Amino acid sequence: MQLLDGKLLSENIKMELAAEVDQIRLKGGKIPHLAAVLVGENPASQVYVSSKIKSCEQVGFKSTLVRRPADIGEAELLDIVYGLNNDPDIDGFIVQLPLPKHISEEKITLAIDHRKDVDGFHPVNFGRMAQGMPAFLPATPFGIMEMLRRHNIETSGKHCVVLGRSNIVGTPMALLLSRKGYPGDCTVTLTHSRTRDLAAEVRRADIVVAAIGIPQFVKADWVRDGAVVIDVGINRIADATRKSGSRLVGDVDFDAVAPKCSHITPVPGGVGLMTVTALLMNTLKACRKEIYG
Ligand code: NAD
Repeated sequence: MQLLDGKLLSENIKMELAAEVDQIRLKGGKIPHLAAVLVGENPASQVYVSSKIKSCEQVGFKSTLVRRPADIGEAELLDIVYGLNNDPDIDGFIVQLPLPKHISEEKITLAIDHRKDVDGFHPVNFGRMAQGMPAFLPATPFGIMEMLRRHNIETSGKHCVVLGRSNIVGTPMALLLSRKGYPGDCTVTLTHSRTRDLAAEVRRADIVVAAIGIPQFVKADWVRDGAVVIDVGINRIADATRKSGSRLVGDVDFDAVAPKCSHITPVPGGVGLMTVTALLMNTLKACRKEIYG
């Protein structure tokens, strides 16, 4: 079994990005600039945003954090989005989800200029991705594709079972893996909460991508010997042996499943770190105008 080490891989990619920034600086070019909008005090969102900002600093990108209280009005948040759309120094930005209930996430996502949508959530980017056109890919699936590619994991003709059909992970993952080219050319089954016999579906998989948000849900007897298992889940469970009283686990019962796999991602230290790195890769693409010219 080989561990797909997201920490090591993301550090390597960050070194490549830092080297690119050095080159840009030498040539007097524009330094990539990512902005993040954080609304409210959601603890997970605060952790995610601060890790995005910290990662920008590590590779030499400029970053801007826009923080607003949870009671910000929708119109005011839209104004912030329009301001970032029109700021020529900002190459890309994200509005961290989830947003407070009184704000429409759909409205905010649609208001983001798709040329700066480095999260890849705007329907223009999603549609372009689905048609195989150049697009900002959603960061988590992009990070997973990069992980498969950089580990030379064979995907052509493989049967991939994706668990979960969210717009940000499951559905784009299924699309990307079924697309022509490498990594891709898989035969994909997209499963969800209404799937009749999930265990039977997973047993047929050469590649499993679990993104449902239920701790340690995927069991060892569901997984075929030699399967590649990508665990996207980030779930906090109680653990009295830890000082904090809790720990993070994925959607896969790691200890039982890992011995059966050819490759598996750990949680933490797997997909999560690659997600942040993919966001940086998208920001560089935005700065270089690689997608939209
Ligand atoms: P979501 O809550 O939007 O969607 C969950 C999906 O799981 C739904 O499509 C639902 O149909 C499916 N599902 C729920 N219960 C199921 C069941 N019993 N059987 C089969 N399918 C079931 O989730 P999301 O935003 O895609 O996130 C999923 C997990 O991934 C969460 O733990 C989240 O924290 C994590 N996540 C991690 C990263 C990362 O960077 N590693 C990024 C995004 C999300």
